[in-house]
Amino acid sequence: MGGGVSMSIKTVLVIEDDPAISNFMTAILTGNDYKVLTADTGKLGISMCATWSPDVVILDLGLPDIDGIEVLQTIRGWSEIPILIVSARGNEVEKVSALDEGADDYITKPFGTSELLARIRTALRHSTKKDSENSQLINGELTIDFEKRQVEIAGEKIHLTPNEYKII
Ligand code: CA
Repeated sequence: MGGGVSMSIKTVLVIEDDPAISNFMTAILTGNDYKVLTADTGKLGISMCATWSPDVVILDLGLPDIDGIEVLQTIRGWSEIPILIVSARGNEVEKVSALDEGADDYITKPFGTSELLARIRTALRHSTKKDSENSQLINGELTIDFEKRQVEIAGEKIHLTPNEYKII
């Protein structure tokens, strides 16, 4: 706290249906000053990703409603957000296809605290580079221009106060 360039809190969205793993990740991340959002289905994960624009997504490939790969493709349709895949041991084909579809990295279950944190730090470093080139987010009819701080819905400019802007 208190002036300075350093710590802005990063938000991690965990899309994972196994409560034990989800709770484990939430505990580690919260304890390391990340803000954590969780979704236990693919559809909820996609909508939370669109609503909250987290800094990193951790995505389990085995979800109850839709396939993790489909979640990945959907998010990649409108966002370059770093996506870290969680995959079961030995599932090489699955991992490779996730990387082909635009995942940034993967972590194999079971994993430990320091590995999880290291992968997230790496993913965040990559995204800082991308951010400078990518200052516009387009999601359906919603366009957010981060440089101009301008929001448009279906081509109509919406006027926001700085505080309202922060909320989106
Ligand atoms: Ca699962």
